[in-house]
Amino acid sequence: MNIGLYLSESNGEVSQVIDLNKLAGEYGDLPAVKVFDNIFKSRSINQIKVDIASNKLDGVVIAGESPHYYKTNREADFIIKEIEASGVNLNRIGFANIREQAAFPHKNDSGAAYAKAKLLIDVAMEKVRHSQQLETIEFPPKRKVAVVGVTIEGAMVAERLLSHGYRVYLIDKEPKARISEEEMSQLRTSIGYILGHKNLKVLSETTIDELIGHEGDFVLTVDKNGQTEQLPVGAVVITAGDDSSYINDLRSVFYLDVDENGSLRPVNRDTMVTTTLRHGIFMVPVTGELGFKAAYADSAALNVISILDADEVIFEVPVSQVNERLCGGCGTCIKTCMFKASSIDESKRLAHVDVMRCRGCGNCVTSCPTGARDLLTYPTKYLHAAIEILADYPSKGDPKLLFLLCESCGYPSLDYAGTSGMEYPASILPLGVKCGARIDTQLILEAFAKGFDGVIIGKCKEDRCQNLVGSVDLDRRANLFREILRSRGINSERLRIVGLDGCESGKAADEAGAFFKDLKAMEVVV
Ligand code: SF4
Ligand code: SF4
Repeated sequence: MNIGLYLSESNGEVSQVIDLNKLAGEYGDLPAVKVFDNIFKSRSINQIKVDIASNKLDGVVIAGESPHYYKTNREADFIIKEIEASGVNLNRIGFANIREQAAFPHKNDSGAAYAKAKLLIDVAMEKVRHSQQLETIEFPPKRKVAVVGVTIEGAMVAERLLSHGYRVYLIDKEPKARISEEEMSQLRTSIGYILGHKNLKVLSETTIDELIGHEGDFVLTVDKNGQTEQLPVGAVVITAGDDSSYINDLRSVFYLDVDENGSLRPVNRDTMVTTTLRHGIFMVPVTGELGFKAAYADSAALNVISILDADEVIFEVPVSQVNERLCGGCGTCIKTCMFKASSIDESKRLAHVDVMRCRGCGNCVTSCPTGARDLLTYPTKYLHAAIEILADYPSKGDPKLLFLLCESCGYPSLDYAGTSGMEYPASILPLGVKCGARIDTQLILEAFAKGFDGVIIGKCKEDRCQNLVGSVDLDRRANLFREILRSRGINSERLRIVGLDGCESGKAADEAGAFFKDLKAMEVVV
């Protein structure tokens, strides 16, 4: 596989700690290796595109900002889209987080930061090498939108979408609109326009049972007075205001992130305030100011329009796959899949994955007794290879910890420790996984076999897990993990599981630091 490596100095944030030119020199056998002062500049992106074409690259590794940064910032997301448009599959774009998880936390130990950065790049390379291309589905988007919450914000979003020619379902569990007299008087004309519109359907006293599908092509199942209806929609906008109980109901249907106050959390409170982590689902944040409400409604509606006005939506499906050679048709994966994505194809007696439902959480991979399941985005071979690479860190007598971090909460939590200036021992070595549900005994045993002194798992807190039960299922497995460690003569105290929130800046580093000290006291260094 031809892989290009691009290192970002991040305007000096990385390069003042890590010698990137020296690091680039260690990858001289790759077809393309470059160091940029800032990867987000158009000349950097253009250079990557030229390299992809001239070197026929089928994989790209970017070493610099966290992969989480790429999900939560428009400029970063733009690079991904450009690389994909140049012909590299999304699953073959890897990230080595040498800023938040090497340069920042080890700013006073450039030797340690360099050694760690090298391993993080090797891990990212391995991920690209082991990753298959994601399956691509192309379809015309449905120009119908569910606006959930009959609030003034909901009315504003509906008005913008109706006037753009879309069909809108305005849905609420309550019998009456949540619009005050004052709001009504301020927007009487708009509300009159909306209510009389032929493309609006108001569904009050309606609960939402399920949403399946992907951005541009969802099916929303609703229930009104015991009558179920399936609504084909291309996008959803949540405008439930500050009703935290309603938001909690919606969260468990849409798998969204909420903050400590029970409000929906956007991907970025500064620059992407109406975008959620789930593609195709948008939100209007709570604000008291009518002007802000209107601005947020504009933003949410524009986000929807930017997707649904396209002729085609191209979706790369991050599914779990079934190895038909190994599947015995036992049905265990059906019981463990919260999303009803697994079923048995009776004609073949094999497991089948519904790509419209699969969330790629990995619970089926962990539970399959024959090893027939795998995740396309975090293949098992990659995870084992990554553990082996990280185990090579020269810890010089300090305990060496593998920090397994779920993508949703654990990983960003450790990032925030770095961005907020915290330092922690460099022999705490991070490895992202899709969800706590994917962590199994094999990964833990592999870590100890390869020489780690401790394994710490950073997972979502129970009520924050975007895969709903991934965090709880991991807790259920904890006793099994410990029992197996004891049976191998390994002190089960060398495994620790902590609940993290992506916004708690210090917790991941504090927990790992405390575990590091405990391991030191246990004198477990192997
Ligand atoms: S758990 Fe594994 S072996 Fe059993 S049906 Fe599912 S994929 Fe097949
Ligand atoms: S990866 Fe998760 S959602 Fe997909 S089939 Fe497996 S358990 Fe279900």
